[in-house]
Amino acid sequence: MERFEKALKKYWGYESFLPHQAEAMICAGRGRDSVVVLPTGGGKSVCFQVPAVTLTGMAVVVSPLISLMKDQVDTLVECGISAARLDSTQTPGEQSGILKAIAEKKLKLLYLAPERLVSSSFIEFLKKAELSMIAVDEAHCVSMWGHDFRPEYLQLGILKDAFPSLAIHAYTATATEQVRNDIIEQLRLKDPKVLVGSFDRPNLVYKVQRRSNLIKQICSVLDRHEGESGVIYCIRRKDVDQLYTKLRSKGYSVAPYHAGMGGEERKRNQDDFINEKVDTIVATIAFGMGIDKSNVRYVIHTGMPKSLEHYQQQSGRAGRDGLEAECCLFYSGRDYGIWKSILEDTEPKVHQIAAEKLNAMYNYCTSVSCRHDTILEYFGQQLGSDNCSACDVCLGELDCMEEPLETAQKIISCVLRLGERFGADYTASVLTGSREQRIVENGHDSLSTYGLLSDFTKRIVRDWIEQLAEQRYLQKAGEFNVLNVTEKGWSVLKAERTPRLLKPLKKREEKHRKISRAAKESWEGVDRELFEVLRKSRRTIADRKGVPAYVVFGDAALRDMARLKPSSIEGFLKVSGVGETKSRQYGEVFLSAIGEYCSASSSKPGD
Ligand code: ADP
Repeated sequence: MERFEKALKKYWGYESFLPHQAEAMICAGRGRDSVVVLPTGGGKSVCFQVPAVTLTGMAVVVSPLISLMKDQVDTLVECGISAARLDSTQTPGEQSGILKAIAEKKLKLLYLAPERLVSSSFIEFLKKAELSMIAVDEAHCVSMWGHDFRPEYLQLGILKDAFPSLAIHAYTATATEQVRNDIIEQLRLKDPKVLVGSFDRPNLVYKVQRRSNLIKQICSVLDRHEGESGVIYCIRRKDVDQLYTKLRSKGYSVAPYHAGMGGEERKRNQDDFINEKVDTIVATIAFGMGIDKSNVRYVIHTGMPKSLEHYQQQSGRAGRDGLEAECCLFYSGRDYGIWKSILEDTEPKVHQIAAEKLNAMYNYCTSVSCRHDTILEYFGQQLGSDNCSACDVCLGELDCMEEPLETAQKIISCVLRLGERFGADYTASVLTGSREQRIVENGHDSLSTYGLLSDFTKRIVRDWIEQLAEQRYLQKAGEFNVLNVTEKGWSVLKAERTPRLLKPLKKREEKHRKISRAAKESWEGVDRELFEVLRKSRRTIADRKGVPAYVVFGDAALRDMARLKPSSIEGFLKVSGVGETKSRQYGEVFLSAIGEYCSASSSKPGD
């Protein structure tokens, strides 16, 4: 254990282990097969990288995508570890250089695609090299039940025969037990230790809002994260194009990404995002797999995904570095309808499961329970706290009416009085006592429900109608979305059920929006101005070296620098995320940036 701790400090600059890391490393150290299930950002990579560095021989790491391998190898090399990847994009010269390094036992980690690892000639070659272990990253790719099934991963089953004395360790963020069992079976693991961490991502702040003025809603998130990286997911390519154009015309730093674009343009936009030349990528869900960018500070969904698994995976791309990040979902009842109609064509068994998943997703959107708790419960875990202080519900941003029954009854009666022949807008006008010509002409100003909610604005009443429709007390029918009262709606009139209605957020409260615990802690004592200065230094270095900025230093390390303001190499080494190699390489640049900043701003430097 001591060796692992020393390596973690020396190469990565971290003082302590994250939950389950130590146990996972012990399995690797003792050569016991293992399945390690930790959420995104849970620190799975170091679970095999640290033992790989300390054990004799070379670890082989299987990874499904070249971009992932490249990112991890770049990060390791930056930390001063001899790692390499072998893939089809490399020149024959590069490949033979790596083969030579393997034969000369110079590498501690080798990253490979599954198809190369299972080729018989390569297995023979590897048998001559001294191996320490086999790590299978993104191991859920082996399972047909997972969302990223890769047939090549199935062939990995032969590794146990080819290397009977080597331990195999599988790593995934996928939560279901079925996938876990599949991994064990397909990789033929022997009595594996199964480690399952909490799926909660306490640094993510979940927020859900009904889609009303989408552009305005999106801009308010972007404005909260000026200059930071984020992803906006749209359901259709057309929406990506439209939203991108709109945001660009408003001056936001954005780029589009979807499968209908040319490969070159797509790649350029992705690189610009990774290298922080644009802040926000507007994309379909085609974007994300293989993106390891650790400092994504927000993920916005402009429509509801079809399941919580999808939502967890896509929103989970935020905050991999453990720092606070925001996941905003803008939905409408229409999203539910669209997914439902897509499902109609599926076979009955698939249909039933998919429909259940869709309902759970929709309930997440419309519920007023803690979002962290709802997600965890879906995956069979519990939060163990009444208040996560990291979702709109627990932060008190959703202001529910204390006694919504009477208001709901007024609205539903009005729909009935109007003969279930009018839409939401018209009904809201009648309820608020509008003198619009069409209402007077129709004689609706003499209805008993006319003006019953005239204490409120039309916008508020309109929102309530939508909320009742979302909870299926009202139903929108036909081409003109005429409102009908459902059976559930009738039960409200009989006071048998009480719907949930939100009080809209008042301007004043918005200004004093509470911030999440994760945000408070990670910014505690950080000089934000200095943080921005250091980001610039990091950019310059990353550009010069041709690696993503977060490979040089993660945001967490930069914040710690801007907190401690070190003035010596010893002080610099105390920053979390600064190991020996990085300190040697970049210490001078960052120390001088900090020094200059401190004298210009007359702030006190640290050790
Ligand atoms: P995963 O693969 O599980 O998504 P990563 O291995 O990419 O997670 O780790 C997520 C982030 O946490 C990275 O920035 C990594 O450097 C950091 N990290 C890993 N282990 C530790 C630790 N023990 N202390 C602090 N940060 C850590």
